[in-house]
Amino acid sequence: MPVHLIQHPVAHDALVLLRDKSTSSSHFRRLARRLSLVLAIEATRTLPLAARRVQTPLEPADGQALDADIVVVPVLRAGLGMVEAVLELIPHARVGHIGLQRDERTAVASQYYAKLPRDLSNSTALVVDPMLATGGSAVSAVTALQQAGARDIRLLCIVAAPEGIAAVEAAHPSVHIYTPAVDRELNAQKFILPGLGDFGDRLYGTL
Ligand code: URA
Repeated sequence: MPVHLIQHPVAHDALVLLRDKSTSSSHFRRLARRLSLVLAIEATRTLPLAARRVQTPLEPADGQALDADIVVVPVLRAGLGMVEAVLELIPHARVGHIGLQRDERTAVASQYYAKLPRDLSNSTALVVDPMLATGGSAVSAVTALQQAGARDIRLLCIVAAPEGIAAVEAAHPSVHIYTPAVDRELNAQKFILPGLGDFGDRLYGTL
């Protein structure tokens, strides 16, 4: 399975501040958006273009326009911190939502909500799920998208654990993963080490 390790300096500058426990929620939100923008740029690098002729104020000009149906799917709730960045880059993207709740004791993800756009067979689906820990939520989200007909599915994560990558690879080998960091391991509570703590809580100040 292709893992794209994003090396962009702006992504790493944002990531180290996201990790810093003294970063406030408001700053955390801005940093998450900045890093997500870089991930979205990298994850859309291979999108197809179609020739397009326009009229400049002076004469006709030949250019190229995106020729892809993009769907962005945040995994609730932490993924909401990434979706606006993708929409900034691709304003016409359609948006689906998948709600997955992690049982705090067992760390197993269960789906409580799903609303996806129709006709996904020719779409590129960008799943935004910031913490790829056990991989449970990412695997469930990709499964839901595949059941809805999506074939080109790309996963954008702010931090990944080796365990999460292995789980996605085992369940969905064709999915491309975009992340700036593969961290060391999970702890007993299935948090990523060194990680950045609970992404949703830090994003929304619900610690
Ligand atoms: N979810 C988080 O928010 N953080 C982790 O470290 C793992 C899962």
